[in-house]
Amino acid sequence: MVLIRWVLGRQDIRLLQRRRSLLLTLAAIVFAVLLFCEFFIYHIVIFQCSWPELKTTAHGAQEPLLKAMFLADTHLLGERRGHWLDKLRREWQMERAFQTALWWLQPEVIFILGDIFDEGKWSSSQAWADDVQRFQKMFRHPSHMQLKVVAGNHDIGFHYQMSEYRVKRFEKVFSPERLFSWKGVNFVMVNSVALEGDGCDICSQAEAELVEISHKLNCSREQVQGSDQCGDGQWLPWSAPVLLQHYPLYRISDANCSGDDAAPPEERSIPFEERYDVLSREASQKLLWWLQPRLVLSGHTHSACEVLHAGGVPEISIPSFSWRNRNNPSFIMGSLTSRDYALSKCYLPFEDTVLTTYCGAAGFVLVLVLAHFECLASPFLFGWNLLRMPTPTTRFFLDLRELPSKPWQWAEQETTAA
Ligand SMILES: [Zn+2]
Repeated sequence: MVLIRWVLGRQDIRLLQRRRSLLLTLAAIVFAVLLFCEFFIYHIVIFQCSWPELKTTAHGAQEPLLKAMFLADTHLLGERRGHWLDKLRREWQMERAFQTALWWLQPEVIFILGDIFDEGKWSSSQAWADDVQRFQKMFRHPSHMQLKVVAGNHDIGFHYQMSEYRVKRFEKVFSPERLFSWKGVNFVMVNSVALEGDGCDICSQAEAELVEISHKLNCSREQVQGSDQCGDGQWLPWSAPVLLQHYPLYRISDANCSGDDAAPPEERSIPFEERYDVLSREASQKLLWWLQPRLVLSGHTHSACEVLHAGGVPEISIPSFSWRNRNNPSFIMGSLTSRDYALSKCYLPFEDTVLTTYCGAAGFVLVLVLAHFECLASPFLFGWNLLRMPTPTTRFFLDLRELPSKPWQWAEQETTAA
């Protein structure tokens, strides 16, 4: 009786040890997969991005170089739209991507080209404060890096929703600055929602600001600096500006756009609506004429595109930075001097890769648990048993193994049989 109890006790201990070992293995797998999908994958992917090299610096020209990062359409969800889990997941992804990019790439200035929030166009003051607080946590940055933002239609509303209160509320957090100059590079940050052209108060003010900036830029040209119109003010360093805005300049559609992150083929030829999808023709011409930019960067479409406007001015549409809008978000890295620039795109981890890793890990964990409880599905057991069954060839060799190896043993066997 004592012996039986001792044997049963030993079996229980062995069972407990096996269970504990299984639990530890499962915990280790879950921890490793979470660490990979939620942390290391951003490092592995972003580490491979590098700043584009300028032709002029390659030839030894000594001009200060500015490293700028451009992203768009983060669309932080508000209190009305989207599931809380969706909100949590997207914000975690964007925070990790942004913080990892700052860690590896060390940009000097970061520009976000509008639609930072999804519900700024209708959020209450309490919801707005909450959204801003989350944005500031997600997009925190060291003091030596500057973060600049332009307004989008989801931040202050489309033109018909835009109000003095919403514009002021936005500018109180993100500064109303329109002209930013650093290391000889001039950036003009346009409130493109206010370029409706209908003469409303906000639109008139926005146009007046642009005319003033145009005047400053003209005065900074060497040949104009002596003119009476410019007076003795502080000149900007002469350099054609980089135009930053939310709405793209007018284009018929995305039909000529290509690349991995262009709009899906079935959507590319849908004509764009002026003042809704893109700026009006008139506003686009005004911007090109007044500011004579060397490069235009915009957001809003959530997809990538490269367009060449009249006068050879290139425009790059920056895709959305949120995995809610894309499987493959990205941002643009720019190396700029006063005379030259080079851009490259840094892709973030694919959503599909993360989901496939989670599904693969879940499948593996399931097989481990089933194997532990010896209740693997019958096809596995059938396959295993089949492998263990002797085939005709193996049976032949097994039979040979049974045969006596020496001739006299044959004789002995026959005698015994007789
Ligand atoms: Zn937009």
